Amino acid sequence: MHANLVDVKTSQGRIQTLICSDDEGLFEIQANNYVDASGNANLARLANISTERGDDEGLVQQSSLVFKLSRLPKRDIGMKELNEAISAGKEADNPNLFKEKGMIIKPKEETVGYCTIPSIILKNLSSQEKTTAELLLR
Ligand SMILES: Cc1cc2nc3c(=O)[nH]c(=O)nc-3n(C[C@H](O)[C@H](O)[C@H](O)COP(=O)(O)OP(=O)(O)OC[C@H]3O[C@@H](n4cnc5c(N)ncnc54)[C@H](O)[C@@H]3O)c2cc1C
Repeated sequence: MHANLVDVKTSQGRIQTLICSDDEGLFEIQANNYVDASGNANLARLANISTERGDDEGLVQQSSLVFKLSRLPKRDIGMKELNEAISAGKEADNPNLFKEKGMIIKPKEETVGYCTIPSIILKNLSSQEKTTAELLLR
């Protein structure tokens, strides 16, 4: 915990050593077996272990962007109403709206709720690509 995996030493196709970094510097970890729980297969990638991404056409599920909305009307807001609002936003040239889909979750009597709408699909997982997407979606 509190460390980053930064490199991997392999021998004959097997992982030998993990090289990690923390605020004190670099250190090594060795084990009989390794489990890649990095979410984005970072251990597999550093060890040159092949992975699969997406379906037969390389397509992945679109991630969603969740944010808090206030000043909502005190009633249910259905998907149709939200989708129409997103369409209107797109027609008004809002560059951050990509699909007419989403939902608002809130108790009927509240004026504050949580909205989720699809965000963009990343081309890769580089920090540059993620930063570009984050700035675009702000
Ligand atoms: C915007 C968004 C919305 C989502 N919405 C939903 C949803 O509504 N429903 C749903 O079911 N799923 C959703 N998901 C997907 C869900 O979050 C993931 O499928 C799930 O978290 C994957 O769990 P995991 O344990 O495999 O990886 P993660 O939860 O990503 O955990 C991986 C951990 O490894 C650490 N790590 C990564 N690389 C290194 C490294 N080199 N060194 C050290 N540590 C490292 C990370 O910091 C992280 O703590 C969403 C994902 C995103 C991004």
